[in-house]
Amino acid sequence: MTSVSAGTRSAGNRHRVVVIGSGFGGLFGAKALRRADVDVTLVARTSHHLFQPLLYQVATGILSQGEIAPSTREILSRQQNAQVLLGEVVDIDLEARTVTSDVLGRKTVTPYDSLIVAAGAAQSYFGNDHFAEDAPGMKSIDDALELRGRIFGAFEMAELGALRGENVDHLLTFVVVGAGPTGVEMAGQIAELAHRTLKRDFRAINTRHARVILLDAAPQVLPPFGKKLGEHTKKDLEKLGVEVILGAMVTDLDERGIDVAYKDGRTERIVAVTKIWAAGVQASPLGRTLASQTGAPLDRAGRIGVNPDLTLPGHPEVFVVGDMIALDNLPGVAQVAIQGAKYAAKSIQRRVDGKPPQPPFKYFDKGSMATISRFKAVALIGRFRLTGFVAWVAWLALHLIYITGFKSRLTALMHWFVSFLGRGRSERTTTEQQIYARAALQRLRGGAADLVSAPGAYDRAQEILEVTRRAELEARAMEEARLTDSGERGQRPDSVKA
Ligand SMILES: Cc1cc2nc3c(=O)[nH]c(=O)nc-3n(C[C@H](O)[C@H](O)[C@H](O)COP(=O)(O)OP(=O)(O)OC[C@H]3O[C@@H](n4cnc5c(N)ncnc54)[C@H](O)[C@@H]3O)c2cc1C
Repeated sequence: MTSVSAGTRSAGNRHRVVVIGSGFGGLFGAKALRRADVDVTLVARTSHHLFQPLLYQVATGILSQGEIAPSTREILSRQQNAQVLLGEVVDIDLEARTVTSDVLGRKTVTPYDSLIVAAGAAQSYFGNDHFAEDAPGMKSIDDALELRGRIFGAFEMAELGALRGENVDHLLTFVVVGAGPTGVEMAGQIAELAHRTLKRDFRAINTRHARVILLDAAPQVLPPFGKKLGEHTKKDLEKLGVEVILGAMVTDLDERGIDVAYKDGRTERIVAVTKIWAAGVQASPLGRTLASQTGAPLDRAGRIGVNPDLTLPGHPEVFVVGDMIALDNLPGVAQVAIQGAKYAAKSIQRRVDGKPPQPPFKYFDKGSMATISRFKAVALIGRFRLTGFVAWVAWLALHLIYITGFKSRLTALMHWFVSFLGRGRSERTTTEQQIYARAALQRLRGGAADLVSAPGAYDRAQEILEVTRRAELEARAMEEARLTDSGERGQRPDSVKA
């Protein structure tokens, strides 16, 4: 296994800051250091910055992936003190102050003076990781594109089945697990797709007969928004044609359906090919790596306990921000990551400038929002509750502000215009790879690394080729010289004397 050391670009002795992650915490942390006298290296396992709140719109064909996932390198291209490295961080050595990252078996070791860890969270299946195969979550562009393929693909397969006279109920039933903001938005959009967008596109099936089910073990929809907004959202979803089933625990699922146990002891099997998991998160395993070296506590969701200034116990040079932290019951939302990262960046800058430390981190809650369908949303801003069109306009404005880059904002606005005022969905393209690649990669022992040559192997093969070729050329040159010296050049081979 080869490994290289990634120095920062400046040859001098500037303070080196490594930022892990290119999500809300990572990107905003790196950007907040643009005027600091430091060298910033951002290491992330994807080359884009992902705006997760709009993933459901990529999954349902409203937006393209480029609009919500611009290139991190491009965003930071003008920030002279920032460098971007692609790589999955596999180790953090707090003693040696290094971060080790890996891409396809190629390891890079990056030293730091200060570290901001913003590696976020993944989907949690509450110990049933095998559910992931048939009920993908929605955490990445890959997830959203796979779901897009599965959702639109289900309608296509239903049309084929109906043409053959088969029962296609299993293909026209969509189950979303988890009635938080993501589940509500996803269920609302699938219902709009089935009942509005696609209603004229098929001949053998009536897409308006599709069942969209939103399941949750909790007794209400959108628990963090309070009872009143939860009730309101449930009613709006039902008007849209979504069946909301609460107090329902998923006990098992497979390719063809999902098993549910209700609070009253009843059980049911819902036959549905398309299942979407929007319940539960598990913080990045890097939290465990840090906890094992510091003794910092981890909660059940794998979030690490940090000091009030977001540093790790005993390591004032290491900040952890965003979805990875357990501090004062802060929620796993974008603003916690953004504000935490800006705070960490400011602390680093103050230290470098020799200024005294800031007071502890204080989160300013700007409110929460969730869309239900076009023109309908709910929002909780301080004590104010907004519903319907007003909340939807607030949602639209806020998301436009936070989408990165003018071009993405403009094209997102155009796509929203097409989808919300009209019936169209501009991003309905799906491919076979989109649907099956994840499962195929998971069946390889080393994942994508199994599909490329091992580090250095290609170069060694090239080296051998070059040595062989050089030997051939030398032999030919010697033969040419011999022909010239012996006067055999220009004579027919049969006239050459032995
Ligand atoms: C579908 C969905 C909808 C949401 N909707 C909303 C919403 O409406 N409003 C809201 O406020 N919040 C919402 N959230 C939550 C919000 O997106 C998160 O709270 C926020 O992204 C957390 O920021 P973060 O920087 O901690 O993590 P993330 O934004 O998840 O970023 C983590 C980064 O770390 C990288 N990474 C992870 N592990 C490694 C590793 N080992 N090595 C290198 N890089 C790594 C990832 O690739 C990523 O770049 C939503 C989340 C999801 C999934």
